[in-house]
Amino acid sequence: MPRVSRCLHAVPLGAHRLFTPGPLTTSAAVKEAARFDVGSRDATFLKVCGSIRDRLLSVAGVSKERGYECVLLPGSGSYSLEAMLGSVIPRKGGKAMILCNGAYGERQTHICNHAQIPFVKLDHPWNRAYPAQRVAEALEAHPDVTHLSFVHHETTAGVLNPVEEIVEVARSVRPELKVCVDAMSSFGVYDIDMAKGVDFVCSGMNKGIEGIPGCTFVLCEKAALLASEGSARCFTMDLHLQWRNFEKSGEFRFTPPTQTILAFDQALHEWDAEGGAAGRRARYTENYEIILGAMTDLGFRTYVEDPGERGCIITTYVCPESLAPAWDFRTFYQKLADRGFLIYPATVGGAQAFRIGNIGQLFPQDARDLAAAIRAIVAEM
Ligand SMILES: *Cc1c(COP(=O)(O)O)cnc(C)c1O
Repeated sequence: MPRVSRCLHAVPLGAHRLFTPGPLTTSAAVKEAARFDVGSRDATFLKVCGSIRDRLLSVAGVSKERGYECVLLPGSGSYSLEAMLGSVIPRKGGKAMILCNGAYGERQTHICNHAQIPFVKLDHPWNRAYPAQRVAEALEAHPDVTHLSFVHHETTAGVLNPVEEIVEVARSVRPELKVCVDAMSSFGVYDIDMAKGVDFVCSGMNKGIEGIPGCTFVLCEKAALLASEGSARCFTMDLHLQWRNFEKSGEFRFTPPTQTILAFDQALHEWDAEGGAAGRRARYTENYEIILGAMTDLGFRTYVEDPGERGCIITTYVCPESLAPAWDFRTFYQKLADRGFLIYPATVGGAQAFRIGNIGQLFPQDARDLAAAIRAIVAEM
């Protein structure tokens, strides 16, 4: 047997619970599933890929038989977003309308700028859900728009946008419009029914379904996918080419993230066993309510004021006036990290704001442990 040499880590790995929007705390079985070496062209692996593609479509309420396709792509979530926007908007006459109420909406504009895709951007306050009615007015004002694109759950502040309402309103104005949705953090937590008029959905493996990072996917209405042939601005992330290859051989075009996919297969199984999106939503909501209750008691307020517009996935908290003079996020973060909890900085709400994720393999007891740690640290500060 060869001698096994192991690297040493300054911080003990596995010592932290991740109250973040991803990567997340994963189950032991998910990590265990990533332990195997597998051939990227071996029948066993291709069977797993095929099964994952089918199951992802069913999470979005559709199937291959009903005319939908799932394309897997390596990378972090943004890669699928870029593959989607960069592949489906026609080079001639294509124009996107991007609804923006957070940093991920902004990211769509960066992607379009880079790919030289024409777009109009409709800004809305980052602590508010996107109002569907605005979309109708905007579409009337921009008759040249061919694709509507927006984020389902804006992870920036933790705002849930009303997908069905937006799609319904948009389609009533422009039935032929193509609709693209970034469902990165909502997928598998908040339902999305593609049959109600969503043509493209992108998401990744390390958020609501609780896999490990490294692989993403785009779900496509097949006719819209076929129509996109030749539109891609990028070769490696050409959605249509990637799909063709899956059709032909069941394989990725280039080296797949094999371990990530094996782990995701297990994660999907656990997602099913927990009761799918409803089960996940119930647990995340319980985590969210426990932490929110404790934070409210301590005087913190939520950056998104309307509880009806807030999701259960991640919450942005703003520190109270009374604490503000003593407040320092780095100190707060480090004190929590020293106790084994990792939280997330905020990109909105000012220097006194930060985010706490409620997702991943975290349970009500973990939420109570975090709340107790925050109480102790606030008392120290
Ligand atoms: C996480 C996330 C992404 C992708 O981010 P990556 O860092 O590329 O994984 C995109 N959109 C939303 C809404 C997200 O929550």
